[in-house]
Amino acid sequence: MTHCEAAAGCTAPPVVRIVAPSGTETIACDVHGARLLAATPDGRVYSLPGEHEDYATAVRYAAKRDGGAA
Ligand SMILES: [Zn+2]
Repeated sequence: MTHCEAAAGCTAPPVVRIVAPSGTETIACDVHGARLLAATPDGRVYSLPGEHEDYATAVRYAAKRDGGAA
């Protein structure tokens, strides 16, 4: 299940994979990916296979900018 399937009403396409230090991986769209990354200390973000590498960069930037406030 993706993070977005758990979030009611999100129909954005999944583009990134958030990896927690525990090894838990979660697929999410760019918006939810940023929120999830901001809420995951030492979490990492990767673009999904076939998706543009810029998605990971954008999510990393948005997570840092928002600082977990969502
Ligand atoms: Zn989403």
